[in-house]
Amino acid sequence: MSGKPLAVYLHLPFCAAKCTYCDFLSFPGSPGVVRQYLAALAQEVELVRPMLESRDVTTVYFGGGTPSLLPAETLAELLHRIAPNLGDWVEVTLEANPGTVSLNSLSSLRRSGFNRLSFGVQSLRSGELKMLGRIHSAAQAKEAVRQARQAGFSNLSLDFLFGLPGQSRGDLVLTLMEALSLEPSHLSLYALTLEKGTPLALAVADDRLSLPSDDEVADAYQAAVELLEGDGFERYEISNFAKGEPPSPFRSRHNQVYWHYGEYLGLGLGAVSFLEGTRRRNTNSLEEYAGRLERGEVPTASQTGKRGMTALREEAILHLRTSDGFAEADLAARYPKAFSRFREQLERLSQEGLLWQEDGRWRLPPALLFVSNQVFLRLL
Ligand code: SF4
Repeated sequence: MSGKPLAVYLHLPFCAAKCTYCDFLSFPGSPGVVRQYLAALAQEVELVRPMLESRDVTTVYFGGGTPSLLPAETLAELLHRIAPNLGDWVEVTLEANPGTVSLNSLSSLRRSGFNRLSFGVQSLRSGELKMLGRIHSAAQAKEAVRQARQAGFSNLSLDFLFGLPGQSRGDLVLTLMEALSLEPSHLSLYALTLEKGTPLALAVADDRLSLPSDDEVADAYQAAVELLEGDGFERYEISNFAKGEPPSPFRSRHNQVYWHYGEYLGLGLGAVSFLEGTRRRNTNSLEEYAGRLERGEVPTASQTGKRGMTALREEAILHLRTSDGFAEADLAARYPKAFSRFREQLERLSQEGLLWQEDGRWRLPPALLFVSNQVFLRLL
């Protein structure tokens, strides 16, 4: 251990095909483009090498895109560039698409230091997977989880979507029951958001597909929470569930850095960093990204710094997404000037039953987690 903790995120934007709901920064990559990107990424890692060497890298997260589309040796090489002396205490996650892995590739990833997999399963109903444009089948997803376990991964997370067109509460429950039989250690459950211009949004706009009502979506979420909690998962964040008693050892340490307002370094196209109170975003343009790194320049496109009340609000809201909420003493010490005014707002919401205060911590009542945005608006 040598310095302040740092979480590292690495963006690998390539995907085999574009899913119908996706507006993430992802696209198919020809071998030439992939090579160009990896060379630029290696240059960016060299630019931040002094920071990597002066800090304790506690988590590394390869996200995308579909990082598992790249060969396991390429991923291992990238990981060793970032953290040449990787200790076993470092959480190293790879986002993986079940349609892109094999027992061989997973075994090789495990040997090279990856110790957590996050599979983008999304659904285990074949009609839903087809509608979402996913490249994998339900059978492939189940097989991928079995292979991951065989390859030595014990920390396995599965991502699901709900609120899909035509999806009933029963469909979601069935998917999750099948998911639970695979014994994952972590589950993420995200409500579908229709992103403008995506094929799915267009199909809904044209009435070719219709979304469930807000009440139906809330009802499905509640059924999912009851099912997962009944199976021994704790809901430690609005959309995230970890196996075991709180605090479960399977909580995503990387994502907790975001919610706890910790510092992180984002590498790659469009990646975001948060360092010393400033949020910086890399350019989304591949040409600009590669060109600037070629000239030895940082590829930052924008940066914003928040201080005082704005930073306090942002930090408090991030903490309130989690079941731990925040300790009043911590935020009062970090924002001595702004906190007393902010506390008046907290008190008002507490009187209305929208926040709980207990043992010096502020939390959202669990029943309000799903409608948290309505409470957060009152804190702005
Ligand atoms: S795999 Fe993920 S990043 Fe790639 S297109 Fe589908 S949703 Fe988007």
